Amino acid sequence: MPVPMLDLRAQYRRIKAEIDGAVAEVFESQGFIGGPKVEGLETAIAQFLGAKHAIGVASGTDALLLLLKAKGIGAGDEVITTAFSFFATAGAIANVGATPVFVDIEPDTFNIDVTQIESRITKRTRAVIPVHLFGQCADMAPIMDLAATHGLFVIEDAAQALGAQYKGRPAATLGHAAAISFYPTKNLGGAGDGGMVVCRDEALAERVRLLREHGADSTYHHALVGANSRLDALQAAVLLVKLPHLDSWNDQRRANAAYYAERFARMPGVVAPIERAENRHVYHQYVIRLPKRDAARELFSRQNVGCAVFYPSPLPLQPCFQQLGYTEADFPHAVQASREVLALPIYPELTRAQQDEVIAAVTQHIQALP
Ligand SMILES: *Cc1c(COP(=O)(O)O)cnc(C)c1O
Repeated sequence: MPVPMLDLRAQYRRIKAEIDGAVAEVFESQGFIGGPKVEGLETAIAQFLGAKHAIGVASGTDALLLLLKAKGIGAGDEVITTAFSFFATAGAIANVGATPVFVDIEPDTFNIDVTQIESRITKRTRAVIPVHLFGQCADMAPIMDLAATHGLFVIEDAAQALGAQYKGRPAATLGHAAAISFYPTKNLGGAGDGGMVVCRDEALAERVRLLREHGADSTYHHALVGANSRLDALQAAVLLVKLPHLDSWNDQRRANAAYYAERFARMPGVVAPIERAENRHVYHQYVIRLPKRDAARELFSRQNVGCAVFYPSPLPLQPCFQQLGYTEADFPHAVQASREVLALPIYPELTRAQQDEVIAAVTQHIQALP
């Protein structure tokens, strides 16, 4: 039996009638930009998080970008972030003209090592972007303390962590602002690109609202130079159907993770992911470490069992950041992770029988090691 890395059709089949109905409603209205679905989703996400403002934008990447722009961060400024994430985190910083300053990770959570942040702060540092990687929150309390001491703005990259918690509080409400993604493979995924900015500050929310529509504060009157970065009504309609299921989907991911964890605990050579006591991990990805990872990947492929590598290279070592002058020696933990990590299927609809196949493939790899 083949096991896919992710099976979005399994999710769609269970809510097809509702999704199709919501999409048909938008078509009947022919209102594709803005309108009740977009406003409804903004309200629903704000309520879900207990957040003040939630502003729909075109993608998670744009949520990061518009927040940086709204704060006036650009050329000459530095923004501290993690060496190990999806490219968008660093790309957004570079795209506003600022310089990304990278920090190595904690080897057990894969999140930014907060003990290394302070030494990277300079007179030019304006912001910190911690990423809640794979669905587990970064250690936000010491980050917020540092931010208060040094006057820095903290943007959570919560693209992988909707529904996660840290010390009982929801991801995306822990920093000064946050970026969420509705990319189809995320825990709450749309039928295309989409994202949201979450924040408490009214003036900041207003700037983001302007920036997503060419900076216009009234029709054809442009207070700021913004972008075209709206969340469209079709995405909002789909996401409004899915949001009420998110908690149970996340619980199912956690149950799947617990099943893996129990098996892998008895398997020397496999390092299973940990969940810190202060966290509720939502397992956007279930990422293990293995010796001879690339051989495991080939074995999985031969057996038709899905897996993926997040991420094969630390961000500071990407060709586009060569001029920043980083070397592998600057990020020993991110480099080691990039060689050892393997993400296994964890999606909510995954069956125990499918998980057993994944576990059998891991077992076979471990047994074949010298
Ligand atoms: C997916 C993702 C983004 C970007 O979101 P898009 O909606 O794809 O633009 C940013 N950061 C992280 C960590 C992500 O996983």
